[in-house]
Amino acid sequence: MHFHVITLFPESFDSYIHESIIGRAIKDKKIKINFYNPRLFVTEKKFKKVWPDGNVSQIVDGRPFGGGPGMVIRPEPVLKAIEKVTKKIDMYNQKQTNRKKKKKLKIVFFSPGGDLFTTEYATRSVEKYTDIILICGRYEGIDARVYQVIKKIEHVSIGDYVLTGGELPAMIMIDVMARQIPGVLGNFDSREESRASSHDVYTRPEVLEWPLPSKGQKGKKYPVPPVLLSGNHKKIEEWKQSTKNQ
Ligand code: SAH
Repeated sequence: MHFHVITLFPESFDSYIHESIIGRAIKDKKIKINFYNPRLFVTEKKFKKVWPDGNVSQIVDGRPFGGGPGMVIRPEPVLKAIEKVTKKIDMYNQKQTNRKKKKKLKIVFFSPGGDLFTTEYATRSVEKYTDIILICGRYEGIDARVYQVIKKIEHVSIGDYVLTGGELPAMIMIDVMARQIPGVLGNFDSREESRASSHDVYTRPEVLEWPLPSKGQKGKKYPVPPVLLSGNHKKIEEWKQSTKNQ
């Protein structure tokens, strides 16, 4: 899966995507992530501000029509960023004669009012698409004309709360989708959804004593559920099922 992330803050992704399983998935070329900063698509002079020290800043936002607090991201820089991806994919697809090798693009717009993101949504997307554009809003959001121009945008929410930006939702989506790609998890069957797994997991010691015993003082004992040590696979599976949704 190739993720194309449209964000004003690409650096906010740095540490998360380069650690652990996602970091390895990128190195192993199981996933690819590219960033497009709408700020770099601001070309009009009137939206460039020259500071007394000579620095230039590109203005990507504006006051909302109709009033209200906060700023709204202007449509043009976001549309240009989207077009950069769609044009590249269209050109690639035009050259492909084999239908099966053509790229398939999905466009997601993060919005607290969108459809709830689920593992099932991630699985379906990974099976069906090769490329996905993730549009991260900030401030009061992005000018609504972006999704009037580009009609096939899907509005997705990651939960019933409001964040300051779409960057965390994008990282969550990348993480959840990546683990649905064969070869990303050491063992593909590690995915909860393909096996009986419990949210309660145990490792050594067989009996945890806490607080740690010290002179004259014994801790409370917390044993591992005996069934997990029984070696009876049928019973273990049943136990895992029974604790799954606790
Ligand atoms: N007033 C806006 C909220 C803006 S929050 C509104 O009601 O839509 C700024 C940005 O953060 C949003 O544009 C969106 O991209 C992102 N965001 C915030 N909460 C989110 C959530 N729960 N799921 C997905 N994206 C979210």
